[in-house]
Amino acid sequence: MSITVKDNNYISSTYGRFKVELDYGKGSLVYDTQGKEYIDMSTGIAVNTFGIADDEWNDAINLQLKKLAHTSNLYYTEPCAKLAELLCQKTDMKKVFFSNSGAEANECAIKTARRYSFKKYGEGRNYIVTLKNSFHGRTVTTLSATGQDSFHTEFGPFTEGFVYADANDFDNVKELVQKHNCCAIMMELVQGEGGVMKLDENFVQKVADFCLENDVILIIDEVQTGNGRTGSLYAFQQFGIKPDIVSTAKGLGGGLPIGATMFGERVQNVLTPGSHGSTFGGNPVCCAAAYNIISRIDEKLLSDVKRKSDYIFKELCGAEGVKEVSGMGLMIGLELDKDVKEVIELCLEKGVLVISAKSRLRLLPALNIPDELLHKAIKVIKECVK
Ligand SMILES: *Cc1c(COP(=O)(O)O)cnc(C)c1O
Repeated sequence: MSITVKDNNYISSTYGRFKVELDYGKGSLVYDTQGKEYIDMSTGIAVNTFGIADDEWNDAINLQLKKLAHTSNLYYTEPCAKLAELLCQKTDMKKVFFSNSGAEANECAIKTARRYSFKKYGEGRNYIVTLKNSFHGRTVTTLSATGQDSFHTEFGPFTEGFVYADANDFDNVKELVQKHNCCAIMMELVQGEGGVMKLDENFVQKVADFCLENDVILIIDEVQTGNGRTGSLYAFQQFGIKPDIVSTAKGLGGGLPIGATMFGERVQNVLTPGSHGSTFGGNPVCCAAAYNIISRIDEKLLSDVKRKSDYIFKELCGAEGVKEVSGMGLMIGLELDKDVKEVIELCLEKGVLVISAKSRLRLLPALNIPDELLHKAIKVIKECVK
């Protein structure tokens, strides 16, 4: 039985997969079982930060794998302590909780915001404002937090306590917070699944100021925007704001599953022993992988990300078949004349892996993609969109 047939027979059909069986890769190149080569412009949805099977990353993992792959959170281990310290040093956040995915990182953020408010103000102040067109995950609660109606069907009852404001409409945010006595505002700075839509900087600043003035917890979901993707370690660092909670996952482990919820000063001691936990959270191998990734996202790499981003914007803005280019850093969306599905299939045929976000073509190359491969991929994309 071929891989595809076996998969179709035995894997729950939650994914509309492309007709490609990927086998192995190196850096920004990946090969299918027929030996066909592709340039990877999607990195497993912003996960393979330094590409596939990166040597340094592999070494860090293998070293830890041979020492201790897993213990429980009942004991101290070095990789998670080191990673938490590094994250705090580089973000000025105060404490970290480790989990295994973006949805879990957001669950922890939501629990923390609610508990903060409960301890200080008692019952009845537990609603959270999220934005329309957002995406926060697939658990029942994070689906509820996701501000897209299409996610709010068939799996009910959903978790109560979320209201949705229009992105970039500060008055709407303010009105909802006051009307529902909200404890938090949660948003992505670039709405990834929503079509790679960057929020207005002025709006973000106003929301941050409002949160501070009203003791409302500001949660920034950096599951996709984080870990160097937008040209700074975390996107909030380019918006000049200081969130109370930052969640991240995707690119953090560079290809191994790890989520992190980072806490600022106001909420750093909200969670106490027994109030939250995870069996695999802080797994030593995943933390060793993430430590390797985060320690390598330095000024030189980030300026390279910006340079490559500028190149992509320059090549594609006004290109034939491209209506609009959106996003930040190496998280880019293209509104096209052609149907995005058709373009993805064409690119696939020509050896470039790209994905979509709503109606847009989404580009998420490895942060260290060699210029030569980037140029080649953009050339193919330009041919396919016209
Ligand atoms: C992908 C994503 C999530 C969900 O992450 P999982 O690891 O799939 O649970 C949450 N928020 C944002 C912004 C994301 O892009």
